[in-house]
Amino acid sequence: MSELHSQGKSMEQIVQVLKRTPMHPHIVPAIEAAYSLGCDLKIVSDANIFFIRTILEHHGVSDRFSEIIANPSFVDEEGRLRIFPYHDYLKSSHECNLCPPNMCKGKIIERIQKCVAEEGKSKKFIYLGDGSGDFCPSLRLKDTDSLMPRKDFALCDLVSKNSNSIKAEVHGWVDGDELMQVLLRIINSHHPAIKSSEDSTPTMAVDCKKMAGPTPMDAPKNLPQAIPVPPLNSS
Ligand SMILES: [Zn+2]
Repeated sequence: MSELHSQGKSMEQIVQVLKRTPMHPHIVPAIEAAYSLGCDLKIVSDANIFFIRTILEHHGVSDRFSEIIANPSFVDEEGRLRIFPYHDYLKSSHECNLCPPNMCKGKIIERIQKCVAEEGKSKKFIYLGDGSGDFCPSLRLKDTDSLMPRKDFALCDLVSKNSNSIKAEVHGWVDGDELMQVLLRIINSHHPAIKSSEDSTPTMAVDCKKMAGPTPMDAPKNLPQAIPVPPLNSS
């Protein structure tokens, strides 16, 4: 961000690029559907608050999330985006050797689990992730929870190799289309009032726990092609 600022790029130009970030067409409907079915949606991300808020607001879904937990950021008086670590590791370490020094998502999930327990509620967690930073929180999920790792990404690989350490039910997904199908199927199965509709929902998920060896290598060609992002300033 300092480099972009020194090159004369404005925050408005950065915002325009964030708004062009490709989004699979089923992601926003999946968020809306999960929200309308009564899920309490939270984002736990190693990106930063400014990026996430800008993208969510652009897609009109920022109010669907009760909490966004990410690295703090703000625009300083010179118009430069400043990003800070979630855990101030220069002062004290989070002491988790699975996670990068700035953020242990496992500690965050533990805090959310504790809040839910203190409210006296019995809630089931559905955790979606793809990166290696999502492995630590995956280890904290209970056997009544669900884990949705994106296939052919680091988390799914770690889950496959350490399946004995994972208590949650594992449901893989490839793209936004499958994400929505799998997510709604899990929500419906947890939701007695709408359980009758469950039978009509096709089952597409592959259980990462049961995957033998490496994940299939023919899957990436089925991924939607990313839309090229034009340069910041073409003038
Ligand atoms: Zn951790």
